[in-house]
Amino acid sequence: MGKVLVLNASFEPLNITSWRRAVVLLIKGKAEQVEHNGKYIYSGFPLPTVIRLRHYVRVPYKEISLTRKNILHRDQQTCQYCSYRGEDLTLDHVIPRSRGGEDSWENMVTACVRCNVKKGSRTPKEANMPLLTTPHRPHSSLYFEVTKHVKNGVNQEWRKYVIGDLSS
Ligand SMILES: [Zn+2]
Repeated sequence: MGKVLVLNASFEPLNITSWRRAVVLLIKGKAEQVEHNGKYIYSGFPLPTVIRLRHYVRVPYKEISLTRKNILHRDQQTCQYCSYRGEDLTLDHVIPRSRGGEDSWENMVTACVRCNVKKGSRTPKEANMPLLTTPHRPHSSLYFEVTKHVKNGVNQEWRKYVIGDLSS
């Protein structure tokens, strides 16, 4: 039945939950419905896609795990050397591992197979292959998750709540 975007009382995205949990929050009066997709759970109760909490919740920063999937998402599935977008993407260590480069958000980027092979065990400078953008740690885990869902095209109703992060 799909996922539901939970907004804080301030209308900022807070998390993503199952429709069942969202319905419980609505029934308990802890949240209000903001968007629905026109489907009904039962008569008079549309299936929510976006809800908003009635009370503001403070959220601590949550670490985003350094995974292949997350690095590809940060780099928008684009080779950071030649802008190639496609299926056969790899991860490249900016400073090669053989030369002390670490596994980190700052040292790992998405690269196509061609660029990865071409660069080999050189730095971008040595290989004369400048990076399109300086790799950095994603700011907010929530925006990260939410944009992933919106980009997948599953939850278009969420789009207007995450504008600003999609263009970056
Ligand atoms: Zn490339």
